[in-house]
Amino acid sequence: MFISNRVQSIKPSPTLAIDAKAKALQQKGVDVINFGAGEPDFDTPSNIRQAAIAAINAGFTKYCPVAGTPDLKKAIIEKLKRDNNLEYTADEIVVSCGAKHSLYNLFQSVINDGDEIIVPAPYWVSYTDMVILAGGKPVILQTSDKEDFKIKPEAVKKAITPKTKAIVINSPSNPTGATYTHDELKEIVKVCVAAKILMISDEIYEKLVYDNFKFCSTASVMPEAKALTVVVNGVSKAYSMTGWRIGYAAGPKDIIAAMTKIQSQSTSNATSISLKASTEALNGKQEDVEMMRKEFEKRRNYIVDRLNAMPGITCTKPSGAFYVFPNVSKLIGKNFGGKTVKNDMEFTDFLLEKAEIAVVPGSSFGAEGYIRISYATSMELIKKGMDRLETALKS
Ligand code: PMP
Ligand code: GLU
Repeated sequence: MFISNRVQSIKPSPTLAIDAKAKALQQKGVDVINFGAGEPDFDTPSNIRQAAIAAINAGFTKYCPVAGTPDLKKAIIEKLKRDNNLEYTADEIVVSCGAKHSLYNLFQSVINDGDEIIVPAPYWVSYTDMVILAGGKPVILQTSDKEDFKIKPEAVKKAITPKTKAIVINSPSNPTGATYTHDELKEIVKVCVAAKILMISDEIYEKLVYDNFKFCSTASVMPEAKALTVVVNGVSKAYSMTGWRIGYAAGPKDIIAAMTKIQSQSTSNATSISLKASTEALNGKQEDVEMMRKEFEKRRNYIVDRLNAMPGITCTKPSGAFYVFPNVSKLIGKNFGGKTVKNDMEFTDFLLEKAEIAVVPGSSFGAEGYIRISYATSMELIKKGMDRLETALKS
């Protein structure tokens, strides 16, 4: 009775819910293989862990500047120059408690009631609810595996109305792994620049790209792009640092100042120890990033081949992130183990109960008839999980 309408208008994160369900079953002794989690299975590299231990021992345990320490901001500025050829100053950067927090602060900073935010689907689960929580209206641009889950510039142009404030661009994408090449991105950015809408570019999977794909930041594709883009990135995925909770945003000063103001009245600085660890992540040796990337690429190749060999499943080969998003629509309406599976949610329930594998239904990402499988788990478990899936489909 005390809960606000605002909170009642959103749902809990389904990816976190499925991950929690799988982990709870594992704790009860059920041998569940967790393909639900969107987090790397590697340890955080040792140089980063050591930097955190050194920070604790040096007493770096007090409040810090709200938007992040000068040394981490410097490391982020150097990273954006080195990797993305983008030049930012310290007042154009804000560090938050994960990229998720950066996105939350960003939506709160730019959305007025009724503003429209274009969100290409399949989308990461949190964009739409964060937009709603800020009083905005998500405008979904649907795509399918037929076009490799990529939006076309004409579709963006058609979706823009006088109420459009921003568009979310997420390449490589969660949940599809789809990536935009420089040229594809440029055509979309041109439309956004012409309409003067804000581009919210979630680049958290930047480092996880395959087949020699060359990542390109939205802010860098043409000179006019940077002033209209907020780049969101972080250390969670590239450095296997999901629990450390550090993400950041780079963009126009007034937006960064607004985000910092929200943070000053809510969380204050992100954890001091994690700020130090993230500085080492960005400044230190990068070999571990490449080691993990290579391992993910091997797993992707294996899992895509296995899925495509299963009757009723088709799977595009994504060039980024650590997810595959196979089409299972041919299996919906079929009978498995004596029960008709009516939709992708019932299909994932069936997989959890009967095959003991946890995956996320496509409908959570605004795409009915697919499932998301995270391959951020060992090759051994992937093999075992694919065997279980194959067996379950024969039941
Ligand atoms: N964006 C996308 C697309 C993601 O998949 C995630 C991971 N959940 C995030 C942002 C947030 O990452 P974090 O808060 O761990 O930095
Ligand atoms: N990126 C992960 C996922 O999509 C983390 C969970 C979350 O924050 O939603 O599974």
